[in-house]
Amino acid sequence: MNGKIALEEHFAIPQTLQDSAGFVPDDHWKILEARLLDIHEQRLRLMDEHGIEVCVLSLNAPAVQAIPDRAKAVELARIANDVLAEEVARRPDRFRAFAALPLQDPDAASAELHRAVTDLGFVGALVNGFSQDEQQGDGQLPLYYDLPQYRGFWAEVERLDVPFYLHPRNPLPQDARIYEGHPWLLGPTWGFAQETAVHALRLIASGLFDEHPGLDIVIGHMGEGIPAMLYRVDHRNRWVEAPHRYPARRKFVDYFAENFWITTSGNFRTQSLIDAVLELGSDRILFATDWPFENIDHAAVWFDSAAISDADRRKIGRTNSVKLFKLGDGPR
Ligand code: MN
Repeated sequence: MNGKIALEEHFAIPQTLQDSAGFVPDDHWKILEARLLDIHEQRLRLMDEHGIEVCVLSLNAPAVQAIPDRAKAVELARIANDVLAEEVARRPDRFRAFAALPLQDPDAASAELHRAVTDLGFVGALVNGFSQDEQQGDGQLPLYYDLPQYRGFWAEVERLDVPFYLHPRNPLPQDARIYEGHPWLLGPTWGFAQETAVHALRLIASGLFDEHPGLDIVIGHMGEGIPAMLYRVDHRNRWVEAPHRYPARRKFVDYFAENFWITTSGNFRTQSLIDAVLELGSDRILFATDWPFENIDHAAVWFDSAAISDADRRKIGRTNSVKLFKLGDGPR
């Protein structure tokens, strides 16, 4: 399929490059490093070869979220967003941008999102899970965005009317004891999905979407497992018939169907895609690759021939993203 729009497409700047070391064997690092720093050569060539018209670019992980020094986090987000704006300006027909945000400081994050959207023309934000702040728990307290101090930030996201992509990171060591002795379960194998799914469920349960029903949250990797678990999160011990014990008014499935969008990043499996279509409908699923951690060809060759209708392929591959990110007819 030509004209695809891809949504979870990462790059690095020298200051964040090392955050991605360790996710591949040492003998693959040089390749990953080159892929992360490249925007206009190999990346664009692969986009051309595989029918991807536009990539929405975002910084690698965890980057800004893992800098406990607030001033440094604020500065790095600004630098990364300025670099990205310049790169996108070189090929506005092929690239768009998600803002990196210093959520250690909710007010600074609101201001940076406002600047990125209104001054730099960014189409939303991509944030790498919880933030660390040296002023809270010595930086060892994972700050999730359902916490009360983030309601002002969410009000700004809703006002700006841009989607918020909640991207994974690994849990902090003290919260990762379940993986002890099994480091291969961290990262994309399992830890990323567990971390991000719980964060998304916290946002829902907290009542955030009752207060800000206009929010659009995007999660990758075919929904981080949530579509397959929606029945269970809403119906545990169903025979008891007790009301749920979280602040949100409705069931998880209602918010997931109205405030969430999922992407195909790094999860190129027709069975999982069809399950997501059955749970959410094809209007809320969006194409993404997760380059350079996954391959563009693996994503695109699979998606282009997946056993779904061509009407759904067109929606997921392009038109849903054109609508959500207000790309007009899409850059040409
Ligand atoms: Mn990713």
